[in-house]
Amino acid sequence: MNAETVKPFRIGAEWRDGRGQTISSIYAGDGSVIGTVARATPRDVDDAVVVAEKAFRSSPWRKLRPDQRATTLYEIGRRITAEREALAQLQMLDSGKPLKECQNMVDNAAYFFRYYAALCETWQNEVTSPRGEYFSMSLAEPYGVIAAITPWNSPIMAEAQKVAPALAAGNAVLLKPSEETPQLALELARICTEAGLPDGLLTVLPGYGEDVGAALVKHPGVRMVSFTGGTETGRAIGAIAGQRLIPVGLELGGKSPHIVFDDADFDKAVAGVASGIYGSAGQSCVAGTRLFVQKSLYGRFMDALVERSRNVRVGMPHDPKTQMGPLVSRAHRDKVAGYVDLARSEGGRVLVGGGLPDDPALANGWFYQPTVIEGLPNTARACQEEIFGPVLVCLPFEDEADVIAQGNGTVYGLAAGMWTGDYARAWRVARELQAGSVWINTYKQSHIATAFGGFKASGIGREKGFHGLRLYSQVKSVFFGM
Ligand code: NAD
Repeated sequence: MNAETVKPFRIGAEWRDGRGQTISSIYAGDGSVIGTVARATPRDVDDAVVVAEKAFRSSPWRKLRPDQRATTLYEIGRRITAEREALAQLQMLDSGKPLKECQNMVDNAAYFFRYYAALCETWQNEVTSPRGEYFSMSLAEPYGVIAAITPWNSPIMAEAQKVAPALAAGNAVLLKPSEETPQLALELARICTEAGLPDGLLTVLPGYGEDVGAALVKHPGVRMVSFTGGTETGRAIGAIAGQRLIPVGLELGGKSPHIVFDDADFDKAVAGVASGIYGSAGQSCVAGTRLFVQKSLYGRFMDALVERSRNVRVGMPHDPKTQMGPLVSRAHRDKVAGYVDLARSEGGRVLVGGGLPDDPALANGWFYQPTVIEGLPNTARACQEEIFGPVLVCLPFEDEADVIAQGNGTVYGLAAGMWTGDYARAWRVARELQAGSVWINTYKQSHIATAFGGFKASGIGREKGFHGLRLYSQVKSVFFGM
């Protein structure tokens, strides 16, 4: 890729070059510029809404039966898979995630399109049996133009998670990717066009949140907003949507408790806790960031966890031996380091990590060591706020009641995990935890057909499965007299 060439975006049939305004994509492994994209502005939002409204009204897309839309969605999925290696490589350069994680995300993106194509094949409206003098049916209808706003931590996957069901439901989509990782959304738009999606039904606007993102949420032509990102941004978007009385889907932050009972399979629990925090270098909304270990097991477990953390292979994203890559940007790495300093000042003891790796080969990238901290109360800021890096805070607990109270003791409620040999207890505790996803003797698994979303300040609404189609549809009931 030539970093000097500006990659344009497209509104309908017209290419836009950002009128000299650009966004640079930077490789987190070494700080080099790997590409430049044209930067959209609020003026582009105005134009894109007009084009999307026209496409929504005039193209046959919304009037097609869902099973007819499926043909295009299958083709998009097929083409994503055909370009798997190139897309994974580009995402690795754009986001700094290890190549293997990027390959998985590209596979998941293709799967979203195939899955929603398949759901379209069988999607039926609800019809009531005749009741005396009438019968009725409830029809799922698209909203029209919807805005999808996504974060940087799993670009093509988060984008496909919104675009596939929104298109399947018949909408026109304006997608604003994160300014940190604008590359993959532009590729997705190209692939959709090549697969036969009519112009204007997917427009990618690579811009900043405070101008393009905000303009999308406020625009009267945008009829629904689907957002994934930080809780404070979600709160601001929700407030505007509330004023406008438009529906929102909000997938927000987390501070997930990861619980180890003293009857857990020890080795599996150590491995699960480590991958729960160090996968994606902790830049995962569902990362298990608060570890709770039962008191009787605490010392032995921490020794094993510290040892494992010390041996995590931190390295360049393109190196197949790498287990943990860099953070997305210098600013984010500094934020993570700032939280560790804060934890120290709050009385936390850093058992391992707590600084930059000393490998000179990593000196130009934005790496941080796998870090384990203990000695903080659950109320400390490092235990309450989302750090979004490879930093685990660890607390001992007495019994079920204690860990349920501490586990639920944050504003968040995205996910939780536990390791135990007692399934009756697992069930009891799972029912008490305030979390949208609970993992038992596994962590961070996801399934495209299984609902995903947050309790409390971690979000509103659910994605995946049929929930995805419902999120992007409004229901109209029609009654027929006889
Ligand atoms: P962010 O909130 O800073 O940005 C997310 C997106 O919102 C970006 O595209 C950004 O440009 C845009 N944005 C920013 N301000 C905006 C505004 N005022 N109006 C409209 N759009 C605006 O989040 P981030 O740093 O990109 O991502 C990390 C966060 O995302 C973490 O908190 C993480 O937990 C969360 N996340 C949640 C999920 C989930 O499914 N629950 C998944 C991935 C990430």
